[in-house]
Amino acid sequence: MAEYDGVIHAPPWLVKKWNELRGMYGIPDIPLRIGRSLHGAHTDLNDVEVGVDLMVNTIPENWHGFSTTDLKKLCGISTAFILAHEIGHNNIHPGRGYNTWGDILAEIDVENRAKARWMNVISDIVVNFNIVNGTNIVNGTPDERKQLADQMRIGLQTEHFLRHCGNIDSHKKLLTAGKVKNNLYVGPSGAGSYPAHEVGKPNTPSKNTPLWVTYQGHGRGEQVYPSIAYSVKKNLAASYRKVSCVKTTGTLRKGTTYGVENVKAYDGRVSPNVQEWEPIKQYKIGGSWHSARYLVPLCPDCGEAAGSIWDNWWLWKTREQEARARAGGSWMFLGTQLFVFEWAGMYATQASGFNGKTGRKAATDFITNISDDMDAAMRNE
Ligand SMILES: [Zn+2]
Ligand SMILES: [Zn+2]
Repeated sequence: MAEYDGVIHAPPWLVKKWNELRGMYGIPDIPLRIGRSLHGAHTDLNDVEVGVDLMVNTIPENWHGFSTTDLKKLCGISTAFILAHEIGHNNIHPGRGYNTWGDILAEIDVENRAKARWMNVISDIVVNFNIVNGTNIVNGTPDERKQLADQMRIGLQTEHFLRHCGNIDSHKKLLTAGKVKNNLYVGPSGAGSYPAHEVGKPNTPSKNTPLWVTYQGHGRGEQVYPSIAYSVKKNLAASYRKVSCVKTTGTLRKGTTYGVENVKAYDGRVSPNVQEWEPIKQYKIGGSWHSARYLVPLCPDCGEAAGSIWDNWWLWKTREQEARARAGGSWMFLGTQLFVFEWAGMYATQASGFNGKTGRKAATDFITNISDDMDAAMRNE
């Protein structure tokens, strides 16, 4: 798809944040571009490109279920984290001890065709650890550095656990039927505004409409919802706590929708002692605990599956989904590695720790406690 200049086509918040990030990380003047690809982000240091989905994630009107304070604090920071990640690929890793990327590749003991991907994941872990601990910030006061590092930490955590619903047509129908609040762009009138379009009719903005405006609202762009853990902790409406069983197991039946009563972290903590954004081992349903790996979170508005990035990697997969994943070789195991080691690093470096411990002990306890689920996820059991 076409490429757009971020200054004109990204929401004002994202443009401001981008300026702050490139200043703090010491890469001034690098432009932000939007929409060359639909998903993800990447950089060659001539510019940083951010996909449409990441841009849409910074529009507060597309976020639902958050308190005003949390919306202000959380909206868009997972996208800001990804931008910091792209910058980090250029100023953190490979770093000390290696001369070339080739040296690192040679040491990675997987099939040749997968070596580069594994290196990317190892690099991602190193980059993200440094970002959430603020080691690659080069400008700003100590307070500003600490603030940015803490924000990036929550940015990564929300990136893993936010629910995104991309069922555009379902949401367009809900909007037309008046079943959801109209959150389409309405002002300022003039450039940017354009009338609501109906199901089946094209989304036709004027040529002056900034790209982001065309993705605001139900039926135009992805909608964003809090994690199940957040929804339980804040006692949100039942629609926010619904999951659907993907594999019949114990008393749960495939295809049935259940309400989550509580959540349990990998060290046995339950809500309200569970954080809004951390790996969840089990959901409490009908008074008993069930593995979260067999339950996909649903969209609170349209009721269709809307799992998080974490769910994409950890949920039990159908034969079809598994075949697709296996076609990529050992790639299907990489997401679980990435998440486990990132979370080991986060538990080790945040005051809340894990299992009553902090530092390296917190990290090793987390790896030990999640290893059975990791094994099951890799075997798709
Ligand atoms: Zn990366
Ligand atoms: Zn939905």
